[in-house]
Amino acid sequence: MNRALLDLQHLDSAILSLSREKKALDDGTNARQKRDETRTILEAVRAEEQGVAKTRSTREDELEATESKIAKQKARLNSSSSAHDVAALEKDIAGLTKTRGELDETILELMDEGESLQKRIGELEAEFKRAEAEVARVEGEFTKSSTDLDAQLARKRAQRPALSGKLSPVETEKYVASFKKHGGLGVSEIIKGGCSACGTTLSRDFLRAAPSEAFPQCESCSRLIFVAA
Ligand SMILES: [Zn+2]
Repeated sequence: MNRALLDLQHLDSAILSLSREKKALDDGTNARQKRDETRTILEAVRAEEQGVAKTRSTREDELEATESKIAKQKARLNSSSSAHDVAALEKDIAGLTKTRGELDETILELMDEGESLQKRIGELEAEFKRAEAEVARVEGEFTKSSTDLDAQLARKRAQRPALSGKLSPVETEKYVASFKKHGGLGVSEIIKGGCSACGTTLSRDFLRAAPSEAFPQCESCSRLIFVAA
């Protein structure tokens, strides 16, 4: 059997393995997804924080207006002599005071809420920075590894024409058929008396007859098997 069949198989196996390795490289899809998810959450929390700040500002304006109303009604109360007016003003002031108390409480709650949201924003900003750095790292690694594997593949592929040129048309046909049938590993060899692809121990009869055959095949997996003449 022509040794070039086995040499070509070794070369094609190396090409396949490099191609698989390239396909399996992490191109950063997961890292980018994580970064984008973090950004979405960060933007949502920022919007929430802005909403809380806006509500707080509105309540503060309301508090200010309520306080000035209280001051105004108190001034009127001080200068009022009518019993009817006094009663009405006192009632009004009591209502306004209650409102002021409620506003004070609401504003305090909004301050607390705003503070925890700001804390969360800080954490998310740090997380986003880390996610961005991870994207850069993975993408850099991917570019480096891709370039390296492409160069290795180009070198291997460049060796192929010279090697395939050593095969006769019949040998080429046999090689291609076995390669396709056996998922890219169509030619095996004998290692420690067995088929290197399927591991089956080859019989003595086979080993005796094979060296004179043009295309010996493994007794078990039926791959072409290289046996030196
Ligand atoms: Zn086999």
